[in-house]
Amino acid sequence: MVVLGLPVASGVHPAHAHAHGGVAWHSYKQLLDAWRGSHVSGLAELKRYLARFWYMAKPRHDTTDAFDEHLELAVRRYQTRLSLPVTGWLDNATLDQIMSPRCGVRDDEEERRPVSVTLSPGQGGVVSRFTFFKGEPRWTLYDPPIMLSYVVSPTATVDYLLPAVVRAFVRWAWAIPVGFVETDNYEAADIKMGFYAGNHGDGVLLGILSHAFSLKNGRLHLDASEHWAVDFDVDATAAAIDLESVATHEISHVLGLGHSALPHAVMYQSIKPREKKVDIIF
Ligand SMILES: [Zn+2]
Ligand SMILES: [Zn+2]
Repeated sequence: MVVLGLPVASGVHPAHAHAHGGVAWHSYKQLLDAWRGSHVSGLAELKRYLARFWYMAKPRHDTTDAFDEHLELAVRRYQTRLSLPVTGWLDNATLDQIMSPRCGVRDDEEERRPVSVTLSPGQGGVVSRFTFFKGEPRWTLYDPPIMLSYVVSPTATVDYLLPAVVRAFVRWAWAIPVGFVETDNYEAADIKMGFYAGNHGDGVLLGILSHAFSLKNGRLHLDASEHWAVDFDVDATAAAIDLESVATHEISHVLGLGHSALPHAVMYQSIKPREKKVDIIF
């Protein structure tokens, strides 16, 4: 976690002012209102951030702090994908999103297709639209229920966090014909959950909130350096992130779901500190 050295723009909670994108942002204030033609220290990092999450081609090694037409296009694409006003410049709403804690899974659109899913009768049989990775989802209402095993790695895991993880699995088990059973066999588990920090061996640098792979891989990783909350009533920390919300989101990735453009959806790519987003139906 990198704390900015300069005061943040008014209206932005200081809790957002750290590097959830895995890069050390120079300053929120510095980047605010940058637009095509601007040359501001920190724009090179912004390009790397936008490239990492699909919005522009990977910049060359000697990338500059110039706000060029490629960056403008990427900013427009980002604003469109996140349902923000599409301005093409770094307005307050856009920077607020960029500074917000987000999921490490890319926001690719080409590989996702919108699918309507009928949830089980316990959920009212409501048809809900999700986006899925290619070839997903893996369950249907007509096949026998699938049973998936999960394990939470004891490394860096604090016991008081576990109830929130269990609640997230229970939410999904209510909604779809998939059951989840806890196991202590890490190698054999379908879903391998754990808290890690920094470079932890799968090619993804944590510094973002969390990330997950598809069911074939099954890994679901949460950033050990975040302040995770299981109950906001007893945890007053301003920067606390709701673990149940993020676990529900990442389990969805393991089940094959992609990101949603709806800000209040559990599958939106970011979550604010002290925000709770757990409803699977939207
Ligand atoms: Zn995600
Ligand atoms: Zn990982």
